[in-house]
Amino acid sequence: MKKVAFILNPISGTRRKNAIVNHINRVLENKKGYSAEFYRTKAVRDAYRAAKDFVAKGFDIVVAIGGDGTVNEVAEGLIGSNAKLGIIPMGSGNGLARHLDIPMMYHSAVATLFDENTESIDAGMINGKVFFCTAGVGFDAVVGEKFNSSGARGLTTYMEFCAKEYMKYKPEEYEIHVMGQKFKEKAFLITFANSSQWGNNALIAPDANISDGMMDVVVWRETPKVNMPLLTAELFTGTIKYSEFIDTYRCKEIKIVREHEGLIQFDGESMLMGRELNLSVVPHAVKVIVPSGWDPIPRLIEMMPQQFRDFAATPFKEFVNRSLKGVSPDHIKELIPPPIKDFQKQIKDIVPKLKDIVK
Ligand SMILES: [Mg+2]
Repeated sequence: MKKVAFILNPISGTRRKNAIVNHINRVLENKKGYSAEFYRTKAVRDAYRAAKDFVAKGFDIVVAIGGDGTVNEVAEGLIGSNAKLGIIPMGSGNGLARHLDIPMMYHSAVATLFDENTESIDAGMINGKVFFCTAGVGFDAVVGEKFNSSGARGLTTYMEFCAKEYMKYKPEEYEIHVMGQKFKEKAFLITFANSSQWGNNALIAPDANISDGMMDVVVWRETPKVNMPLLTAELFTGTIKYSEFIDTYRCKEIKIVREHEGLIQFDGESMLMGRELNLSVVPHAVKVIVPSGWDPIPRLIEMMPQQFRDFAATPFKEFVNRSLKGVSPDHIKELIPPPIKDFQKQIKDIVPKLKDIVK
């Protein structure tokens, strides 16, 4: 009997969780050879401790149900063990799951788990703290902190925070030590990319390979405001690497010294760290369960940015209804958060605010 643990973050993302737990229980009723245990996190680092406990109890698979923050903690708990990491993406960005082609639809993500097809992925480590998706200093760390501490959720709110913070953000100067070189650069942000994206298909390092034992370090240099819309578009089309404002270093180690201590984000969670940041790579740190075959429907959904999925909810639901046989409409409802009327309301709220900010 294989033992599977599900570690669930009840507050990640915007989607409801009970439907997923019910679905997993239904699937397990018909699965022979697996026993399951559920654990709900209550505080920061709970997921890490729970994952470590499940490893100690000899669990074969430990599944993170949540966003990149939850995945980060569970994955850290599995480093150095033989337990496989499963991911059911339930966050706002789901950068790691998207990079690994894990379906955003939980029915497909749950089905993928029991194939047990694994891929070994690297971890990044900065001053002893690990990450699996991206870490970063500069603008994204600042916005992330404001966003997380506000308790807000969802991409629309996040974009609003970005616009607001951007208008008052001052790029910092960084001393970069890499491959025997040392130079200074005034940067909007620096991202350490283990996976290719921040989440929501924002491809900050489109060529990043998650198991090559190397980190793609992206320096987004100070950029004139007039160029920002184009760079934002390039971010979502996987072409930002060609921009004159972007430098990417692929390396095993890098040291960054900033002007003063400050924020740094690890898989979307911001924290304070000192001026000097030393990055290294932990090659093949964790075995993650990834899809073994190509299934077009989840991929199509995955390709859509969240805001577009929200905007196109009704036609999209019809499309999914036609495309997915054997899945009940109730489950399909779960896939399309939030309803279109909420999105329209959000836009109504945001537009005047954006106008105020830009004034
Ligand atoms: Mg790599």
